[in-house]
Amino acid sequence: MEIQHSYCSACDQQVRIVVTPASAYSGQAPVADQPDVVCLDFGERCTGAMCPMIGLPRMLMGIRLARSGLRDEWQTFQAPCQSCGRNVDFEVIDANYAMCPSCHTRHRWLHLNVDEHAYLAIVDDTE
Ligand code: SF4
Ligand SMILES: [Zn+2]
Repeated sequence: MEIQHSYCSACDQQVRIVVTPASAYSGQAPVADQPDVVCLDFGERCTGAMCPMIGLPRMLMGIRLARSGLRDEWQTFQAPCQSCGRNVDFEVIDANYAMCPSCHTRHRWLHLNVDEHAYLAIVDDTE
């Protein structure tokens, strides 16, 4: 897959962009059978509300990247998925959202500190 470099005005940096083959999303709404632009540099340095590459909220690029399987390493944590019922390693998209790798549902997650112990929890907010 060819990687192109492009300037991201939201983050004021050069970013790596790929166009995924249509088959990568086969059967998965809402991008079924469509090639997609995916930014490989979505992450900590990506702080703008809107992504200029897709003209949509940056979160959607994070979801595209997670679904594409193009990022090797995700910060993960284990929890039961309220959508598919499996115990999975959620992939952290950003400080608010994580995605189930099994059913690709996005969930809001929380970092809780209780009695000096830290917990990661999924809250019931799916999309
Ligand atoms: S995801 Fe969009 S806003 Fe974030 S770095 Fe990539 S191009 Fe820029
Ligand atoms: Zn799931």
